[in-house]
Amino acid sequence: MVSRILFLTLFIFTFTLNGSNILKSIKVENSILKLTFNQPVKKSDFKASAIKGKNLTRYFFDFKNCLLNRKANRKIELDGAVKSVRIAQNKSSVVRVVIDSLKPYPIRYYQKDKPVFNIVLPKSTVEKKIDKIKKGKVKKSIVSAKNLFNFVKDDIQIKKAKIISSRYSANLKNSYTIMIDPGHGGHDPGTTWGRYKEKVLVLQLAKRLRRHLKALGFKVKMTRYSDKFIRLRNRIRIANRAHADLFISIHANSISDKNRMNKARGIETYFLQTTRNARAKRIAAIENREILKGKDSATKKVLLNAIFTGPKIALSNRLAIDVQKGMLSNLKSHYRGVKDGGVRGAPFYVLVGAEMPAILIETGYLSNPIERKRLFSAKYQELQAKGIAWGVVNYLKNREKELE
Ligand SMILES: [Zn+2]
Repeated sequence: MVSRILFLTLFIFTFTLNGSNILKSIKVENSILKLTFNQPVKKSDFKASAIKGKNLTRYFFDFKNCLLNRKANRKIELDGAVKSVRIAQNKSSVVRVVIDSLKPYPIRYYQKDKPVFNIVLPKSTVEKKIDKIKKGKVKKSIVSAKNLFNFVKDDIQIKKAKIISSRYSANLKNSYTIMIDPGHGGHDPGTTWGRYKEKVLVLQLAKRLRRHLKALGFKVKMTRYSDKFIRLRNRIRIANRAHADLFISIHANSISDKNRMNKARGIETYFLQTTRNARAKRIAAIENREILKGKDSATKKVLLNAIFTGPKIALSNRLAIDVQKGMLSNLKSHYRGVKDGGVRGAPFYVLVGAEMPAILIETGYLSNPIERKRLFSAKYQELQAKGIAWGVVNYLKNREKELE
């Protein structure tokens, strides 16, 4: 009841005090508190003061001969040193703005685009997002994080994973776009083993990965969504054009030496780099086949030289390590004899010219009978896809920590 009377009193004042200024709205933009009045604030009508407490510095901005529009925001919650901004009709004709800051900072204010009064807040002060949609999103991603990590047996790891994911969805200021590149397609089946084709496997896995990344809140795009042929050089162009933050190419391996078929297996993740390693060279040669086909040796040399000039090598290497770890920890908890084929640099043409960290995953060997069966099973694919998603989250989380 009391508040209703007060409200009525204010309402009457807005009509009775003609000639006085009105604070119409407040907002925080680019670390600046913007107060919009219906006319410029006169110097004589304005006063700033501060009280320094032990853990809190409180700043007051008083606007005389001023009324507060009843539709104006009364409080803005903030992230950063400044926790909140509150405004109130302090006396019948004074509007008071109160800023609480954990640390004292040199206060600055100016009127530029009159009648907007600007108060400079400490750098990187942003409005806390507390609208309903955001709340829903956070909740959803915690749920999906649970799904994502319910394969990890260790309790501590599960707790960690939850924190990673909720932190991720709650605290990331930018959204990330991930480009998934399922290898081969169309008339290029990739590696084949009887009726088992690499192009089919990698598209299945890519679609699962897409679903998990989306559930985590990422924007996800793919270089192909169907059995379609796309040139190697166009794949990275698609990613660059989409301004993707990460590029993940998915492939499968095989070996033609019959004596080693049962032995050769394992998951390998590659990033773009020149190498002396014979195995990395051999696999790169297979994946580069399309671009090198029919070219004379001089042209081949030029193409392969171009391969080694990518700038994002260090970041790609770390992305590769995190993704490899994610896949292995997920798969090892459910399958015996999952082999870590390692993380290596290799000259993959598909990764050339990437403007973002880019990796290529060799998900396993179609030539190995046990691995082939697993690779085409839904359960194995799910675990592997979740593992990749887990690696991506980990990588980005660490990157953000560094950039803080
Ligand atoms: Zn391939």
